[in-house]
Amino acid sequence: MSNQNPVFIPGPTNIPDRLRLAMQVQTQDHRAPDFVETFGPVLEDTKQVFGTTKGQVVTFPASGTGGWEAAITNTLSPGDKVLVARYGVFSHRWIDLCERHGLNVQIVECPWGTGAPADRFEAILSADKAHEIRAVLVTHNETATGVLSDIGAVRRAMNAARHPAMLFVDCVSSLASMPFRFDQWGVDIAVSGSQKGFMLATGMAILCVSPKALAAMETARLPRTFFDFRDMMAANASGGFPYTPPLQLIYGMRESLKMLFEEGLDTVYARHHRLAEGVRRAVNAWGLKLVAQSPELYSDTVSAIYVPEGFDSNKLTDHAFDKYGVSFGIGLGEMNGKAFRIGHLGSLTDVMVLSGLATIEMAMADLNYPVNLGSGVAAAQEYYRAGSSSDAKAAA
Ligand SMILES: *Cc1c(COP(=O)(O)O)cnc(C)c1O
Repeated sequence: MSNQNPVFIPGPTNIPDRLRLAMQVQTQDHRAPDFVETFGPVLEDTKQVFGTTKGQVVTFPASGTGGWEAAITNTLSPGDKVLVARYGVFSHRWIDLCERHGLNVQIVECPWGTGAPADRFEAILSADKAHEIRAVLVTHNETATGVLSDIGAVRRAMNAARHPAMLFVDCVSSLASMPFRFDQWGVDIAVSGSQKGFMLATGMAILCVSPKALAAMETARLPRTFFDFRDMMAANASGGFPYTPPLQLIYGMRESLKMLFEEGLDTVYARHHRLAEGVRRAVNAWGLKLVAQSPELYSDTVSAIYVPEGFDSNKLTDHAFDKYGVSFGIGLGEMNGKAFRIGHLGSLTDVMVLSGLATIEMAMADLNYPVNLGSGVAAAQEYYRAGSSSDAKAAA
């Protein structure tokens, strides 16, 4: 496989040279006085990406899964009830993690290809007169199906039910690629990671925590040591870390934030929308269907695409890798064999996405899919040609 080819998986994403170089730093003493000058501004600047002035940013050396664990263990006690909808592999994994921690998980089963059901949440929360539900957990962007859920609608449902539960949101595959409004949506904990929208190596869980969630921490009894917010925040406040920090990732994060702010967050979001829309035009030209059931659910970071009846999506992704050296996302869980995914987030331009569309088209033609070679690429070309190219360059 050629390392020159971009990956089209929805994370980890392509690491731009600028960020690879930024992570190339020699060991430094994290107890030296200058560590605070490096780390403090990173925590502060990350707030802008979450869309918060009220929340506090906390990081751990972990992948996103560690962030899920940190969110629940810092705020909840064994047996506490949480409400969560399952509509894909990632929402499922968070549910599984909650169950393994001894929480009482009330699951709303939703068809894959749909998102968080605000109306059903409202009915359940309204009926919970004793306020036993302590938190509502939502996967903002379900990476397995390419579905974006409306967090504002979930907040409105919670308010309409006059329910005091906390709102926890997994934004691992949406943050820094699609708008996130921590304060406006009344989110209590948002969980993300370094290897998707931030375009970095894997290894840093990035969370944002509201004052309400911080208050819950005082009575929460789930065991936590490594992920204890209190230790992390106390150390951060005096410019340190409770254990050895992932220094290279912190340097990478500093540069990633610079890149995002130079391009402008709104331009970053517009670029992701444009890239995604080009992919959707291609899918339509191929005569294939997205797993996401309706346009308001379409994700701008990943598209999950059904293969035609009688074809195996795993053979398609294997073939694209073996013959052309390009990785696409496989179908996960229920979608395994039935759908493949094109990740279109992070360090990508129109031109890079066209190369991915051209590659998967060749792979489909090789495997006798009923798809006209060039049809998807042409549809995306027409769309990208009409768009502005100035912001396309900013991401390169
Ligand atoms: C990638 C991802 C995660 C985190 O997975 P890790 O492999 O632990 O980083 C969590 N949720 C979603 C929606 C994701 O896309």
